[in-house]
Amino acid sequence: MQLPYAEPFKIKMVENIKKSTKEERLEWIKEAKYNLFKLSSDKIFVDLLTDSGTGAMSDQQWAELMLGDESYAGSSSFFKLKNTVTNLLGLPYFLPTHQGRAAENVLFSVLVKEGNFVPGNSHFDTTKGHIEFRKAKAVDCTIDEAFDTTVQHDFKGNIDMEKLENVFKITPKEKIPFTLITITCNSSGGQAVSMENMKAVRKLCNKYGIRVLYDIARFAENAYFIKKREVGYENKSIKEIVKEMFLYTDGAVMSSKKDGIANMGGFIALREEEIFTHACTYNIMFEGYITYGGMSGRDMGALSQGLKEATEFDYLESRVGQVAYLGKKLKKYGVPVQEPFGGHAIFIDLKRFLPNIPQSEYPAQLLAVELFIEAGIRGVEIGTLLADRDPITRENRYPKLELLRLAIPRRVYTNNHMDYVAVALKNIFDRRSEIKKGLEITWEAPIMRHFTVELKRA
Ligand SMILES: *Cc1c(COP(=O)(O)O)cnc(C)c1O
Repeated sequence: MQLPYAEPFKIKMVENIKKSTKEERLEWIKEAKYNLFKLSSDKIFVDLLTDSGTGAMSDQQWAELMLGDESYAGSSSFFKLKNTVTNLLGLPYFLPTHQGRAAENVLFSVLVKEGNFVPGNSHFDTTKGHIEFRKAKAVDCTIDEAFDTTVQHDFKGNIDMEKLENVFKITPKEKIPFTLITITCNSSGGQAVSMENMKAVRKLCNKYGIRVLYDIARFAENAYFIKKREVGYENKSIKEIVKEMFLYTDGAVMSSKKDGIANMGGFIALREEEIFTHACTYNIMFEGYITYGGMSGRDMGALSQGLKEATEFDYLESRVGQVAYLGKKLKKYGVPVQEPFGGHAIFIDLKRFLPNIPQSEYPAQLLAVELFIEAGIRGVEIGTLLADRDPITRENRYPKLELLRLAIPRRVYTNNHMDYVAVALKNIFDRRSEIKKGLEITWEAPIMRHFTVELKRA
């Protein structure tokens, strides 16, 4: 019999979490105006709000905290991190930033101008925000298969080459600063991009003389999917696959809070010296001197170690394996989920879970509320609340996918927690016909409303 995977670590320290009663949770969620961001974390039993900055560091990473060099300029921790990044990615120029959106802010200050177009697969929300803030437009060229959760496709993060070439044909070249590939594609459900697609994008961009950049928050999970699913990569190591992925890009922005397994951090990696030189000025203005960029020395050390661990096959097998474990359980119970399962999260399809609740009553938020009441679990709505209003008409924008995301923190929960989550969702799914009314907004901010919105039962 083939041996199953098991976590390539054992547990040295634990953090206690507390159960609560349904009565308490009913009271708390009402006080929080049915917005789970307003709940304090001590009220949560299993927190699947995000995989960002919530991972558990290894003993080696904690040891790095003691070795941190806090020199303002030229610290050894900076060089340690820079060496790790250049060795892993093969990109020679490196700038640390305090997190992923800061990397976007610095690099886009150099590259994105008013009236520009930035094509790519589904852009992450802060990325889109930084593009739109500069009065430029993000153009979604993701393949159509990504928007149907019932379609099986190994690489739903892929860019549709026809859609991309269309953008190139109708837009003057100087208005496209770069094509951006988000790896894995968070917005379409933590979906992988194939090596073949990265190569094809590179080739087409070369033909039109356009730069390629990657948004690489989950590049290691993407490399794992390539190894498991793409012909020709089964015998390559994760680090070899990562190296090849980065042959096809001119640079990258990273949120180290994901596949860096760090609690905070980000960076920019570049091939072109000229852009790097410009970016240095903005880094100094917005983040800090170029050898720390908003990070402390100890955090750079921990990140350097985290990147090495995150690109180990055994780690990724247990990481992605745990997400799939939850996905399979839910599927067995009949709960409709996005397939294939994402690398960092399971996405529940509300158009199939609660088909009778219209998007105007925020069904994904409703399920998030129900799941908290049922079992003290916190997920996050990726649906109509998040899609916000059209900036001009002020009407609700109704996205193609109405999802509840259950993001799994790295190395934090056991599969018993996954069982607990799956049963809680099963219980709600079994009584879904009793759920007849959604939610309505009583107060919202003019932008990014999902963080602070106040709701009541409709
Ligand atoms: C998280 C994330 C970002 C933004 O990074 P922060 O560290 O949260 O600022 C950008 N792109 C993707 C794909 C992400 O997942």
